[in-house]
Amino acid sequence: MVLDLNDYVASYDDFPKKGVTFRDISPLMEDGKAYKQATDEIVAYAKSKDVDLVVGPEARGFIVGCPVAYELGIGFAPARKEGKLPGETVKASYGLEYGESSLYLHADAVKPGQKVLITDDLLATGGTIEATIRLVEDLGGIVVGTAFIVELADLHGRDKIKDYDILSLMKY
Ligand code: AMP
Repeated sequence: MVLDLNDYVASYDDFPKKGVTFRDISPLMEDGKAYKQATDEIVAYAKSKDVDLVVGPEARGFIVGCPVAYELGIGFAPARKEGKLPGETVKASYGLEYGESSLYLHADAVKPGQKVLITDDLLATGGTIEATIRLVEDLGGIVVGTAFIVELADLHGRDKIKDYDILSLMKY
């Protein structure tokens, strides 16, 4: 039976601040069948792109990307916030509504020429994914696709990464 994954995304108005509707994938992760169905869809997409490595930004990008990498028998590299990675890193900064944030990858995490899939739970303004793409490309990786459980279409994140292929399982 194919599940309607929309039933497994919870919406919270005014979280984390007034005016934002938070789309929470916790119910999807907590249900084995829904989590598997979502993962299987992304695995099929990754197979079609002949992916060598999965990269995901902290923290929900890990939840989406790790089972995909496991299923394909390939590696997963975490893109992390400041001060989390112990080795030599590359850095990409991106704008937030107020201020700036940065993501880091270990400098040896991606080998030149590797075909990379980037995963995250949600595409909003696209800042996070765009920074993650820059990290991968800094290291010589080729971003062959990006995959999200949820896309917030009104925020036009897709326009920021229009040169890249995008899979989103649900649009709001
Ligand atoms: P952005 O960089 O604007 O595309 O934001 C994407 C990142 O922020 C993802 O890693 C999401 O986990 C988180 N995020 C942004 N907006 C929301 C939202 N409305 N609901 C849930 N997560 C969000």
